[in-house]
Amino acid sequence: MDRKLVEKFTYAVNTLILLIVFGLMAFFHVLKVPFLVYFSIPTILIYLIGYVLIITKHLDIYVWMVYMWLTLYMCVTTVCLGYDFGFHLYCMSMIPVMFVTEYLAYKLDQKSLKALGVCIAVCMAYLACTGYVSYHGPVYDVDKSAAGIFWCTNSIIVFSFLIFYTNWLIRMIINSEESLKKMAQTDKLTGLYNRHYMMEILEKKKKENTYLVIADIDHFKQINDTYGHSAGDHVLKTIAEIFKEKLPGADICRWGGEEFLILAPGNKETSAKEIESLRAAVEEFNFVYDSTAIDVTITAGIFVYEGSLSVDKWIKAADKNLYYGKEHGRNMVV
Ligand code: GH3
Ligand code: MG
Ligand code: MG
Repeated sequence: MDRKLVEKFTYAVNTLILLIVFGLMAFFHVLKVPFLVYFSIPTILIYLIGYVLIITKHLDIYVWMVYMWLTLYMCVTTVCLGYDFGFHLYCMSMIPVMFVTEYLAYKLDQKSLKALGVCIAVCMAYLACTGYVSYHGPVYDVDKSAAGIFWCTNSIIVFSFLIFYTNWLIRMIINSEESLKKMAQTDKLTGLYNRHYMMEILEKKKKENTYLVIADIDHFKQINDTYGHSAGDHVLKTIAEIFKEKLPGADICRWGGEEFLILAPGNKETSAKEIESLRAAVEEFNFVYDSTAIDVTITAGIFVYEGSLSVDKWIKAADKNLYYGKEHGRNMVV
């Protein structure tokens, strides 16, 4: 969460509200409601103090001060003018904003009031002022010719705000869940699936005509020891890219250290061909790190799914083939 951006946004919103307050002050003057004209003065003061709070980085105090004052402003205008102007509608729009404010405070590691309590207080203020008006009628008997325009404008603003704000909120939650899910499923270094997620995929996709490969980089420890750990990381990332490019339809995972697990559709013949071509691609690729060429090869064990093998036994069978390859000279597909 970018704190500077939140501050800039709050600054702009404060200016916008201040301009609206000036506009409304003029309107109340035309309506001949002196109380609301005078009430605009402390309101303007509140927003001027708001600038100071934003600049001095007291966003938390600013936000709650503005919400309290907005609630008071809505109550006072409703009691003075009645519902016809639609000022009381703004109470509804404050509810999601307050919950998001509590969430933003959590993200920015700041203290915050609990939105639930404040929302209940806003609701009670709403009931009190609208209840007063429905019982006694508004304090001022003003010219209602502009009420329709106000009612419409305020309704459209409140509904548009609620619709777009909630839509934005839900998109944000979905995106955040997607990226968390991706983080939980992938290996950070290579971007391939991680072991945990691959186990889920294997359980789901185990069936005839599907093959499993365990591919292991040959003498990787030596690569690390000779060229450094960063060079080793570079090799791992590059191999992941080669695998993805050569096997676009496969599920590929970093099984651990320098071992990869591949799941793809195919039988004994096609799988042998595909993985042999993968092995050759790695052998032929020019790995370069810090202007130094590194020779890299892999050994791979394949096993095509058969009968009713459990995932564990399937992996063990492929691993056994890999072990055979390691024992018989490496840089081969078994
Ligand atoms: P073999 O051909 O028999 O597979 O030998 P090997 O050296 O590849 O295998 P070994 O298991 O002896 O060594 C694996 C090495 O992989 C040891 C470990 O330090 C290194 N390794 C594991 N994870 C990472 C990693 O994320 N980055 C780097 N750079 N090295 C890693
Ligand atoms: Mg190895
Ligand atoms: Mg290994």
